[in-house]
Amino acid sequence: MASLFEIEIQQLKGVGEKRAQLFQKLGVSTVGALLRFYPRTYEDWSHPCSIAEAPFDKPCCIQAAVASRISETRVRKGMTLYKFRVCDGLSVMHITIFNNRYAPNLFQEGKEFFFYGKVGGTFTHREMSAPLFEPAQRGPRIRPIYSQTEGLTSRQIENAVHQAFERLPDPIRDDLPAPLRERYHLLELRDALKAIHFPYAREELEQAKRRFVFEELLILQLGLLRLKSRRKSENRMRLSNDVTGEFFSLLPFSPTGAQRRAVGECIRDMQESPSPMNRLIQGDVGSGKTAVASALCYCMAKNGWQTAFMAPTEILAAQHHRSLASLLASSGIRVELLTGSTSAAAKRALAEDLAMGRIHVIIGTHALLSEGVRFASLGLVITDEQHRFGVGQRAALAAKGDNPHLLVMSATPIPRTLALMIYGDLDVSVLDELPPGRQTVDTFWVDSGKRQRAFQFVKNHLNTGRQAYIVCPLVEEGEGNLAAAQQYFDQLQKEDFSGYSVGLLHGKMKNREKDQIMDDFTNGRIQLLVSTTVVEVGVDVPNAAVMLIENAERFGLSQLHQLRGRVGRGKHKSYCVLISDAQNEETKRRLGAMCRTNNGFEIAEEDLKLRGPGDFFGARQHGLPDLKIADMMTDMETLLIAQEEARKILIMDPELTKPEHRGLRAEMFRLFGQVGEGGFN
Ligand code: ADP
Ligand code: MG
Repeated sequence: MASLFEIEIQQLKGVGEKRAQLFQKLGVSTVGALLRFYPRTYEDWSHPCSIAEAPFDKPCCIQAAVASRISETRVRKGMTLYKFRVCDGLSVMHITIFNNRYAPNLFQEGKEFFFYGKVGGTFTHREMSAPLFEPAQRGPRIRPIYSQTEGLTSRQIENAVHQAFERLPDPIRDDLPAPLRERYHLLELRDALKAIHFPYAREELEQAKRRFVFEELLILQLGLLRLKSRRKSENRMRLSNDVTGEFFSLLPFSPTGAQRRAVGECIRDMQESPSPMNRLIQGDVGSGKTAVASALCYCMAKNGWQTAFMAPTEILAAQHHRSLASLLASSGIRVELLTGSTSAAAKRALAEDLAMGRIHVIIGTHALLSEGVRFASLGLVITDEQHRFGVGQRAALAAKGDNPHLLVMSATPIPRTLALMIYGDLDVSVLDELPPGRQTVDTFWVDSGKRQRAFQFVKNHLNTGRQAYIVCPLVEEGEGNLAAAQQYFDQLQKEDFSGYSVGLLHGKMKNREKDQIMDDFTNGRIQLLVSTTVVEVGVDVPNAAVMLIENAERFGLSQLHQLRGRVGRGKHKSYCVLISDAQNEETKRRLGAMCRTNNGFEIAEEDLKLRGPGDFFGARQHGLPDLKIADMMTDMETLLIAQEEARKILIMDPELTKPEHRGLRAEMFRLFGQVGEGGFN
């Protein structure tokens, strides 16, 4: 079916440029993609009931013939009612249709239709107002309901799908190899497509779903296994000197037992393991993951290898760069920063120095993935806040070396089965101990009536030399939102916090401005940092002791926990104030959980309960591609079968180049294409 993915959707009848753009919004730009745009849900028109038995409380489908002439009443300008009676052979029902000038022509006496809607009226006078309808000769069926977007209805999408079917060649190539379909009794592609869009019966629909769930999970597993297989190679970068002792003496603090253990485990992997290290460092916010990463950067450099250290935001990358560069300044290790806003000239110079091996540690954002970045001897790849990256992006960075060691760091606890699937034979080190002197961050939830008191609370802390954050009331950084942030900031600076030094930080600022603001905040020149959620991940200023979050109801639980993690990172008693007027139960539970516990694992558990597994384990959390039809949690059994089958296929045909696997290969690229580029080559 590959070729259908090259036919633009505009080529379908009834799809012009404008409609094509609407389809694009739904992620559909080709005929092939449209056929793979499965319905969101269905309306069951397959079991029409009699008028007498129609329920009053939910929509149903009734098959009946028009049993009277149609009457037309103009109620007012722009509102015409068409009324007629229908009969199913036993009882009569009254139908009202609004503003449909085709109605008189359509509903001729004696013609049979399906009507779908809620039955109202009384037992003796049944009626249906503005029903959906369809000529009965089409036969009873289950109707697809598609996710729609403004200007493009489910019905219009349905019509386009009908058109797409006409383009389907006969026979079509099925990307699922026949032996697999036979073994698991799966429908063929054409039948399955037909059945998922236009099923005649529930059973048929279930069969189609089963096939597509299997197919999707198989493709997911093929992609993941291929990423993993690269790591099965030999460990050619064996570390000879363990110099972590030297590094620890550079630190201004002594490492915790958990940090020493984690570093030790990584060093052992790199010294002794037959294949390259593949390890996850899992530790709650503030547990000191950066120091572990830094120790390894130091060790690698002293052993003559380069390290690439990737962070999800420019602010975080700059922070890591600042602290690592100053920590390692005396030891002759060159640490550089490369982000999207590094100037082209500087980028070229950095790229050259990297390729010549003159830089030992390069810290950056996904700009590190760009074409021009090459390494002389890449020994270690570190990704901080791993869940922010796609699996493909991590692989792309690793592909710049010859099977380097991999270290990923995350504060998000991931269930073991899922971790295994995403990372393969992944080893885990847990930082289960916070640095000494940390106290719990006391958390309060107040309504906006107490905002002034909350501000006073912040001022009290500023007066004693501490610093604070205020997270602005906005979630996304759209243009209008930024204006609102600016306004909010102006108000705080001029009125509520006049006399204090206040800074504003948001993602759309120029890099130099961001750096300046973060620098000033880190050095205490700014006392109060008003910010969007760009401070959410990783930002580390230990003197900050209060985090105030406006419109706290807008944030998810894990996000609130991450934001709170910006304070309580030093020896000072710290506080988090959540401002929210929201009253609904879900919000109460979320904010309640924040006030109750500081423990990241408990927060994650609660988050899971509140959001449901689909969302929690969703793509955004862990960098997996978006699945259309399968659910990682509820389809776990199929997932395991698919994994087994994927393994077998890859043993036979590692590159999926055999003719019977080309379809799978194409689908795999398509699925993983959404997650960073360059994951496969
Ligand atoms: P996270 O795990 O959230 O990435 P960081 O690595 O940013 O945490 O560390 C949080 C703060 O704790 C930093 O200011 C860091 O300097 C400090 N820190 C890390 N380890 C220790 C330690 N062993 N003793 C004291 N402070 C530490
Ligand atoms: Mg961190």
